[in-house]
Amino acid sequence: MKATLVIKNIDNLITLKGENRARAGKEVNDIGLITNGVVAIKDDKIIFAGNELPSNIEVDNDTLIIDAVGKTVTPGLIDSHTHVVHGGSRENELAMKLKGVSYLDILASGGGIHSTVKATKEASFDELYNKANKSLDTMLSFGTTTVEGKSGYGIDDFDTEIKQLEVAKKLNEDHPVDIISTFMGAHAIPKEFEDNPDAFVDIIIDKMLPVVAEKDLAKFCDVFCEEGVFTIDQSRRILLKAKDLGLGIKIHADEIKPLGGAELAAEIGCISADHLIAASDKGIKEMAKKGVIANLLPGTSFNLQTGNFAKARQMVEEEVPIALSTDYNPGSCPTENIQLIMSFASLIMKLTPEEVITAVTINGAASLGIAETHGSIQEGKTADIVVFDTPNIEYLIYHFGINHTNTVIKNGKVVYTK
Ligand SMILES: [Zn+2]
Repeated sequence: MKATLVIKNIDNLITLKGENRARAGKEVNDIGLITNGVVAIKDDKIIFAGNELPSNIEVDNDTLIIDAVGKTVTPGLIDSHTHVVHGGSRENELAMKLKGVSYLDILASGGGIHSTVKATKEASFDELYNKANKSLDTMLSFGTTTVEGKSGYGIDDFDTEIKQLEVAKKLNEDHPVDIISTFMGAHAIPKEFEDNPDAFVDIIIDKMLPVVAEKDLAKFCDVFCEEGVFTIDQSRRILLKAKDLGLGIKIHADEIKPLGGAELAAEIGCISADHLIAASDKGIKEMAKKGVIANLLPGTSFNLQTGNFAKARQMVEEEVPIALSTDYNPGSCPTENIQLIMSFASLIMKLTPEEVITAVTINGAASLGIAETHGSIQEGKTADIVVFDTPNIEYLIYHFGINHTNTVIKNGKVVYTK
């Protein structure tokens, strides 16, 4: 078999070798580290990862060789919670935030998400496409090869919801980074439904979800379950309907108040529950029991300046599988930099380098239902790989705030080099 690409002399090859599922608890300590490793790729698939190329793998003049001496190689990073397709920006909220006005207060005064809804509504397909395309370029430069992208800035304006999902679909075809779409019409209560939010929930269930499923515009459905947004009962109704229609289900849970979103995620079989800053001890236990992935977003906590972060160590002890994402969005976390999120996760939430790298590779893949094909460097899997210009994974986390990417390989092709 002839290799099309070989990465050789890898100081630290982090394979995440193992079963194609989310990892939790102590098993996360084994990240499949190979020193002085080599990876061989044929077309878009990995054909070997180990110490020495076996004799049945040919290398000739057409094989692209990358010398990774002094470098660290990992699976392509997976950013499994973003709101990448949106209009506008919200730097005008900075002054309010500095005065200590809370997210929910900014929202109640008609700012926050409502201003992004307006900007997204007013933006043309091409404007949304070009803005998100630029963000995907940035993400790719930081080593992200797959992202999840949510709708949710049309809310009751279903055409805008569809527009967001269609932009994501087109970008998934055009851009090297894969986008997996999530329908999140239940992102806020529209002003005209404030007195009767259940009527809006009915619209999502009866009018929106069936169209999204029928047009195959999203793989997942997500709900912002929070005080002042969607209640536990409303979230349950929406997500069970989505499940009925064959969509995977996710939930923005217990971000600000401990409403019981973690418990609901376990009860109805969400693939992930995201944020979880205020999740209860009981909710964490129930997530562990059901294998619900905790998708933690420390960049959001940092940016909101509340001082409150998810109890990541407790979740690890309870054996909840953990993913980490940027939550890239114009309000609560305007950054595409997954490497920064990895540093925050370690320095602030006290996750170990092994826990961090697992969270942004195989566990991120599992939270998007693609662990069979992505998230580890193993024979037969998709060749999404990052070469970092760092001697080891600790250095990548320790030397924070800059971009350590040297080369990004997507589907077996070099798509970014420094
Ligand atoms: Zn979010």
